[in-house]
Amino acid sequence: MAPGISTPAKTAPAPLELVQRFVNSVDLESGEDELSGPGELRDWLAERDLISPDQPVGKADLRRAIDVREGLRALLMGNNGLPVDEERVARLDRAAARAGVRLVFRPGADPELQPEAVGVDGAIGRLLTIVAGAVEQGRWQRLKACPREVCHWAFFDHSKNHSGRWCLMEVCGNIEKARAFRERKRPAHQ
Ligand SMILES: [Zn+2]
Repeated sequence: MAPGISTPAKTAPAPLELVQRFVNSVDLESGEDELSGPGELRDWLAERDLISPDQPVGKADLRRAIDVREGLRALLMGNNGLPVDEERVARLDRAAARAGVRLVFRPGADPELQPEAVGVDGAIGRLLTIVAGAVEQGRWQRLKACPREVCHWAFFDHSKNHSGRWCLMEVCGNIEKARAFRERKRPAHQ
């Protein structure tokens, strides 16, 4: 599928939907990527009010944003019971450190997690505060990445027992099932 939104049945509740949308800014199967350059990254973030439209965005910013996207995807693989790429998570962690997320206190307001950084690092920080909120609400474990090798699309598992495995049964689940079926049918001695 092209980068973009999922079907309602596979979409996370707001604001976690924004994190899901960020992970799904690339279609790994076709290679179509909404974050194909620094300008595209700036537009993507500005459209969602995560940075100002005149914010300068460079190649290093783009690299960190991709590190965050792919590090999150690695964690979503773990949420689906798959092995987690530790190197990708380490890169995510390094990018996260630059956001300087901290708990901000003000009289008369609830304490709130906010990034101290500005620009792309601040935008990354805002995405990560959403992750923190989802962990707190017990929603994070339901955001998963599809196990099919070329897909790895992020989807939200609305099923009661958290058993959802595929981004879309018709797109990926059936392909895997058909493959398993073919392999079972193949004669053992050949
Ligand atoms: Zn899939």
